[in-house]
Amino acid sequence: TVDAKSFLDVSGIVVRFGGLLAVNGLSMQVERGRIHALIGPNGAGKSTTFNCISCYYQPAQGRIVLDGEDITHHRPHQMAALGVARTFQNLELFGELTVRENALLGTHSHAARTAGMMLRRPGAEARDLVDHLLERVGLADHHDTLASNLDFGRQKMLELARALAIKPKLLLLDEPAAGLRNREIETLDRLLRELCERDGITVLLVEHVMQLVMAISDRITVMSFGEKIAEGTPEEVRGNPRVIDAYLGK
Ligand code: ADP
Ligand code: MG
Repeated sequence: TVDAKSFLDVSGIVVRFGGLLAVNGLSMQVERGRIHALIGPNGAGKSTTFNCISCYYQPAQGRIVLDGEDITHHRPHQMAALGVARTFQNLELFGELTVRENALLGTHSHAARTAGMMLRRPGAEARDLVDHLLERVGLADHHDTLASNLDFGRQKMLELARALAIKPKLLLLDEPAAGLRNREIETLDRLLRELCERDGITVLLVEHVMQLVMAISDRITVMSFGEKIAEGTPEEVRGNPRVIDAYLGK
């Protein structure tokens, strides 16, 4: 049975790549409207877990339930319709398209679920949404810039805007702060809190920037070698000897 409180329920997932156990029986629950972080050393299985939740991979074992619906064997293209958006550890923008065009691509997934059409000219509603989102991520002055001409921090913000254009219920962010300057991290901090508190979006993030993780997370799950080694509030996780030994002390 599914815990009524947990919005996302990952239970016992296993992912193998050949002989490598990338994720070994991971279970975690994410509550609705919270910011939940997934941390751990490189190679721990964090991105692979994200790929399962967004249905890019199907776990060999285990189950993933989103808002009461079993999504374990869904296809990636179905996830936008269920309100799941993600960004990637390595940027996945279209460099030859403008900022606005990239962001509009997100709304196509949204249009697909409201109008049942994949490719149509963006309506006024989509354009307004995108303009609003670009302003929120600080790209209001860059609508017509080619994505490839943005600096790195702005490219990351554009990826976030495109994910938000899906109007997600669950936002999966894979290392959103990596490579950002301090001031950009502060902007991200503020934006993520706002998305959660004002827009009611549930955020699950993989992140190495501990200053951000410890400041904004309601709950943290720690992975090492494919397994969960700790879970709790930032205070609990920060002081956990296993976490210090496997990750934070490094
Ligand atoms: P993290 O995001 O925590 O750094 P990953 O989930 O990317 O870790 O990787 C977990 C383990 O699985 C690593 O040992 C990695 O090398 C391996 N791995 C990830 N993706 C693949 C893949 N597509 N094929 C083979 N091995 C992979
Ligand atoms: Mg990763």
